[in-house]
Amino acid sequence: MIKTTVGLRPFRRTGPNLTVESLGDKVLVHNYGHGGSGWSLSWGSSRQAVDNALTNGKGGPVAVIGCGALGMTSALLLQRAGRQVTIYTKDRHPNITSSVATGVWSPDSRICLKSEAPAGFADWWEKTCRTSFRHYQNLLGLPGNPIEWVDTFHATDTPPSEEPDEEGDARADSPEFAHFYQERVSDLTPVSREFKAGQHPFRERYAVQGSTMIYNIPAYTQYLLDEFRMQGGRIVTQEFNTPEELKGLRETTIINCTGLGSQALFGDKKLVPVRGQLSFLIPQPEVHYNFSNASAYTIARRDGIIVGSMNNGRYGSTDLSVDPQQSDDSVDAIAASMAGLATG
Ligand SMILES: Cc1cc2nc3c(=O)[nH]c(=O)nc-3n(C[C@H](O)[C@H](O)[C@H](O)COP(=O)(O)OP(=O)(O)OC[C@H]3O[C@@H](n4cnc5c(N)ncnc54)[C@H](O)[C@@H]3O)c2cc1C
Repeated sequence: MIKTTVGLRPFRRTGPNLTVESLGDKVLVHNYGHGGSGWSLSWGSSRQAVDNALTNGKGGPVAVIGCGALGMTSALLLQRAGRQVTIYTKDRHPNITSSVATGVWSPDSRICLKSEAPAGFADWWEKTCRTSFRHYQNLLGLPGNPIEWVDTFHATDTPPSEEPDEEGDARADSPEFAHFYQERVSDLTPVSREFKAGQHPFRERYAVQGSTMIYNIPAYTQYLLDEFRMQGGRIVTQEFNTPEELKGLRETTIINCTGLGSQALFGDKKLVPVRGQLSFLIPQPEVHYNFSNASAYTIARRDGIIVGSMNNGRYGSTDLSVDPQQSDDSVDAIAASMAGLATG
């Protein structure tokens, strides 16, 4: 293992906040609270935030607060609409939540609580998801492979037809999250294939092969920042502690992309951190597939093979310390499934 990271997903119980409000003589557009789906939904959500800013704002330069997935995509879409943009941010890559994400297409991962999804949320989610997906297909094949498609294999002892359709919220202490993928957008990703015992090399009885999109986050972040700077974008290091401080900005339109930071900055009590831990094995370019079993998963990113636990979401936890046992257990679980590959 070459590194282990811990991050806090900016989960919001009723889903992301995309409202518009006045702040003195300024227009403030929110774009935060995307849980475990922030990279996946970023282009669709930022499209909406930018449309809100263009419709309700006053023209002229725009301030984006935050330099994560949502801040960078908002900034780029504003530039494409002809606006001058400055990103004001406390921290930037690699010291932000977006930098410690797994980096898979997971648009309905911890996006809102099942019991608190507002009316119309599923429609909003589908539109946002489809917009993002289309955008990502135009980012394939770039130098450094910021975005790419990989095969996925899931090994299971339960017949695949009896497995839950959606990403399991495996922890007993986890609330029930809303899921929409199968019902709303399953046409986006290729159909999976099932294999029985003897037809695949894993220890489990069944295997399911599919395909998914992954984000090679270091290369992708570099791409987004290069694009932003090439179009004259500026990044200023600045922390805001109260909404009042935002009034001091020269821009009259502001998009707030502070993720979990909106808890302190705007007192948003609907935000709840959901902790996640990832470990990295050295990069192995020849391993170009993701794998999962009942306990753990691997993601074949270019900057290392990520190993994570299926119990990877501690709801409400702000504990940023590494749990080495969790990483060791995940590697052992993967190794057990793969033992047959080593012996042929
Ligand atoms: C372990 C883990 C795995 C994940 N896996 C995936 C995945 O596979 N796919 C996926 O789509 N999503 C995934 N996510 C979720 C995704 O990472 C987040 O939803 C996304 O990063 C949120 O982006 P953001 O821009 O809103 O927030 P952030 O990345 O947190 O950015 C917020 C920005 O605002 C700045 N800021 C905050 N407060 C202030 C302030 N007061 N003043 C000035 N600046 C401020 C910060 O410095 C930062 O620049 C994962 C998250 C975790 C933790």
